[in-house]
Amino acid sequence: MTDETQHTAERSDLLHDSWDREHLWHPYTSTINPLPTYKVESASGVRIKLADGTELIDGMSSWWAVIHGYNHPVLNRAIEQQVAKMSHVMFGGLTHEPAIELGKRLLSVAPPSMHNIFYADSGSVATEVAMKMAVQAAVSRSGSHRKTNFATIRSGYHGDTWNAMSVCDPVTGMHGAFGSALPVRFFAPQPQSRFGGEWNPDDIAPMRELLSEKRDEIAAVILEPIVQGAGGMWFYHPQYLRELRKLCDEFGIYLIFDEIATGFWRTGKFFAWEHAGVEPDIMCIGKGLTAGYMTMSAVLTTAEVARTISEGEAGVMMHGPTFMGNPLACSVAIASFDLLAQEDMEAKVNNISRLLESGLAPAHELTDDVADVRVLGSIGVVEVKQPVDVGRFQKECVSRGVWIRPFGRNVYVMPPYTITPDELHTLTTEMLNILRSGKWK
Ligand SMILES: *Cc1c(COP(=O)(O)O)cnc(C)c1O
Repeated sequence: MTDETQHTAERSDLLHDSWDREHLWHPYTSTINPLPTYKVESASGVRIKLADGTELIDGMSSWWAVIHGYNHPVLNRAIEQQVAKMSHVMFGGLTHEPAIELGKRLLSVAPPSMHNIFYADSGSVATEVAMKMAVQAAVSRSGSHRKTNFATIRSGYHGDTWNAMSVCDPVTGMHGAFGSALPVRFFAPQPQSRFGGEWNPDDIAPMRELLSEKRDEIAAVILEPIVQGAGGMWFYHPQYLRELRKLCDEFGIYLIFDEIATGFWRTGKFFAWEHAGVEPDIMCIGKGLTAGYMTMSAVLTTAEVARTISEGEAGVMMHGPTFMGNPLACSVAIASFDLLAQEDMEAKVNNISRLLESGLAPAHELTDDVADVRVLGSIGVVEVKQPVDVGRFQKECVSRGVWIRPFGRNVYVMPPYTITPDELHTLTTEMLNILRSGKWK
């Protein structure tokens, strides 16, 4: 063994833990042939430090969550101060200042009609809770036990629990494996009119037909407003939401916006509904809520929905997680709200947006491989013409000092807002270098 290969082998041992490989499941992985995982020693700002000392510029915000960067002193302090008071108390029969304060902050930025808040554990659970709210309210309002199903659009993603899976895209949602075990939902085509492009009125026609025909069975429509995330990284025209709102009102169907990925300025507005100016009846918030520190989500709804549920058969909202309203999570979320309030976030995200536009523009020239390039807010997507070999792509990332995790045919970045122009330049340059190198096929 030469010094060089010995060094490489040692480095590989540090980075890829064999016990982990043998025993730990990572998201969507095989135990027979898992993709490599890289061991992280620490993370600070926009940099992830691997066990061998390699530093990576983070392009993922750990899946939309780490909006202010890692190891943020203000957020750390918020958690430390709360730990000293109490890490948790049950939310049944008890309440506390962090839950109350966070609720006030949420209502101050939510659509004006939002009035009641349910704290849940994760994005997927928020989807479950939102769907349960819709069913309870729809049954109570209509008096019909048939009005319990859901409609959505193709290419959506709403989480991995049972009902969340049922409204994910049946193909890209990766849940085809569950077949008849999943409840059968109604799917309308994905809106084709692009964000920033022209609105084609034909886009909404299939949804109108569906809702008109199945109005007696459908409790709610659930979808991600403007940005479809993990189901396809697609940005569609706000007019779709305006038309959908009208249809839901016409047919007595509730409208649920899943803003779990799109919240906290990711799309250039505090929440994505603002692009369309129409409000949902129920809204899911997660991911960036605690700035990536803890798992927590919230479901917001109108006074009308809350009252209708309470007037229904059960008389109560039928959900109550053990860790509901966790004080640590609430405290760090409040501190994150404070950080957001200190800055002109619209300008900050617009700036990232411009840098992403210019940084990714050269991808248009890679016409053999690239199908589309799109940017909205602080999200930059290069859609390629064949599926990416994620393991190969990520190996290139690590050797070039960046962290990007492609999905399907989409190579995308959504960095922490604290990224500097230089770091962002490195991120987009290396992303394009990898695409040019072909070492991802
Ligand atoms: C990530 C995501 C979820 C699921 O959130 P988890 O916290 O992973 O359960 C639901 N909806 C959308 C739009 C998401 O992006």
